[in-house]
Amino acid sequence: MKSAWVDRDAQAMVAERAAAGIDRDFALRIYTTRLLGRDPKLVLHGGGNTSLKTRMRDRLGEAVDVLRVKGSGAAMATIEPSGFSAVRLTPMRKLRTLDAIDDFELVAIERANLIDATAPNPSVEMMLHAFLPHKFVDHTHANAVLSVIDQADGEQKCAAVFGGRLGFVPYVMPGFGLAKKAIEVFERTKPSDGLILSKHGIVTYGADAREAYERMIEMVSRAEDFIARNRKSIRIGTAEAPERASLAAIAPIVRGGCSEEDAKVEGAWRRLVLDFRPIERFRDFFGHPDFARLSQAGVVTPDHTIRTKNWPLVLPPPEAGKLDEFARTTGQAVQEFVARYHAYFGRNNARAGGIKHELDPLPRVVLIRDLGFFGLGRSKQDAVIAADIAEAWMETVLGAEAVGRFESISEADMFDSEYWPLEQAKLAPTLPSPASGGGSIHVPSPASGGGSIRVPSPASGGGLGRGLPLAGQIAAITGAAGAIGAATAKAFAAAGAEVALLDVDWAAARQAAKAIAATALPLACDVTDAASVNAAFERIAENFGGVDIVVSNAGAAWQGRIGEVDEAILRNSFELNFYGHQRVAQAAVKIMRAQKTGGCLLFNVSKQAVNPGPNFGPYGVPKAALLALMRQYALDYGADGIRANAVNADRIRSGLLTPAMIASRAKARGLTEKDYMSGNLLQREVTADDVAQAFLHQALAHKTTADVTTVDGGNIAAAMR
Ligand SMILES: [Zn+2]
Repeated sequence: MKSAWVDRDAQAMVAERAAAGIDRDFALRIYTTRLLGRDPKLVLHGGGNTSLKTRMRDRLGEAVDVLRVKGSGAAMATIEPSGFSAVRLTPMRKLRTLDAIDDFELVAIERANLIDATAPNPSVEMMLHAFLPHKFVDHTHANAVLSVIDQADGEQKCAAVFGGRLGFVPYVMPGFGLAKKAIEVFERTKPSDGLILSKHGIVTYGADAREAYERMIEMVSRAEDFIARNRKSIRIGTAEAPERASLAAIAPIVRGGCSEEDAKVEGAWRRLVLDFRPIERFRDFFGHPDFARLSQAGVVTPDHTIRTKNWPLVLPPPEAGKLDEFARTTGQAVQEFVARYHAYFGRNNARAGGIKHELDPLPRVVLIRDLGFFGLGRSKQDAVIAADIAEAWMETVLGAEAVGRFESISEADMFDSEYWPLEQAKLAPTLPSPASGGGSIHVPSPASGGGSIRVPSPASGGGLGRGLPLAGQIAAITGAAGAIGAATAKAFAAAGAEVALLDVDWAAARQAAKAIAATALPLACDVTDAASVNAAFERIAENFGGVDIVVSNAGAAWQGRIGEVDEAILRNSFELNFYGHQRVAQAAVKIMRAQKTGGCLLFNVSKQAVNPGPNFGPYGVPKAALLALMRQYALDYGADGIRANAVNADRIRSGLLTPAMIASRAKARGLTEKDYMSGNLLQREVTADDVAQAFLHQALAHKTTADVTTVDGGNIAAAMR
């Protein structure tokens, strides 16, 4: 590993930040924090932190000694000055006289000593930074270092690799206890470059930013060299493997298996989103002769427990044509995993005095032999994080095996880390963090009519969508680049769902997806072409793991007097306005049935299905057939927990009702455009957002199927009953 320090860049950072009143030390603290943060072999998803001891003036103008330390959850690769919290150093150091301190009390004391009361909560490892005397302190969970120290004889290996330059701190759970232990070791042994935190990570320090940073790089390089010198090539079996089932076919089975029924709402499921990594880069791990032991050997550093749990679920390779067998094996393996997790929780909660609340027992990493692995999470972002951490875990375990025998922390230590309130706070920022520490923002929810939903801010790193009504669910919307489709995708994403936007115009779908979320998936899909529909749904299954909600919305209007209209026009309309929906529903039901967790089909039937307009037969007749189709799906798949509903909307500004059409129709009726658009019982214009909210309502109504929700401002002739 090479130092990424570039003098010119460092000076540019100093000059650029000086304009904003940031001094040289702080500018360079930002610079090297970013250098560390951008290398995933050093720092991954919040697994590291840095600090600077300096003097600054408080709000009253008094000069005080402070510790600027990375805020909990801030991303190091892109950190800004606001990502650091400045805490008064003297009172923090006085805490050393205490034997122990309650976690919540410690957070409260830290917050009471912030220079800026709105700053984020300091990193959970802040006290370690505070106690060490050095101006710059850097801490990472570098893979190569973990490979050297995650060993029964980690202390001897540490001495062999780092000489006497790093002190060795025996394993203590992160937090106040570890900080006290670390400073004891430092004062007793006075190591020149830093400390090893056994089975956890490495600390380097220095008088300036470059010294602390380059010591980190040098120590990690020593660990890398040590592993490289000892790495033996592993023979991977090359036996002819039978043909494997496709990812699109197996992902919904895995996803469905790793779901649980919501204990509070009958018919609702707690689901997870998947992120797949193919086996190619991980063959050494999957093909390792000791795969069975290594896969269950535990985490490489304690804070991974909150993202990956302590162990992955391991599944056999799925053979093509034997998906039923794979589904059975998966179901059984998940049951065993869950039983093992309950037992683990029960044992350790008893030790902890029975005060903990059990988290969901579902796996967060699923290894599939010969195929690859999935990261799982309540959002796509969380699934990606779990998969990234699993990659680092495999690399680290292999490195450890190259130089010895991998050994994790004990089960009790894993439990204490997984159930440490300050770790859980990283996932659910609303739990213990007062003020802005958790970084949550209030977002008005259109669905709740003026209420608000608490949404963790992206800065909190907690993964968007947790706690929202559609968190963990995957919604596919057709015609998603149009007014109603885009508004619906947006409403579903705001409710916590991952969304796939399908449209015949891929560029427009991409545009709409960009405006919604980084994880929103735009897909080209022509619903008049079965191959195109099937390919789109396969992509959804590969990308997210499956699908739970489909909003079948794509459509277009044709006109003509029904007795005289060209048959080709009627057939074209049926292709899009009837068969298009049938193809989409069929593709979705196939995935939903593989998941075995129910599902929801939503159709845009339009008013024409109920209340035909003159000369609109070519549009209205297939829409009426679509209404029957919806009811047929409700009937045939109710027993599978799949609901089917429709929205009957009218007079929405969209590609089907353009400004020019509105102008001409209003003129023909002698109305203003406004009066034309609000020509209904309520005299209110109905918008695409209103339709989106109706779809959302149907997605959330677990006891409703075969229903039509009317969104037209009131039209007795189009009323359902
Ligand atoms: Zn750490």
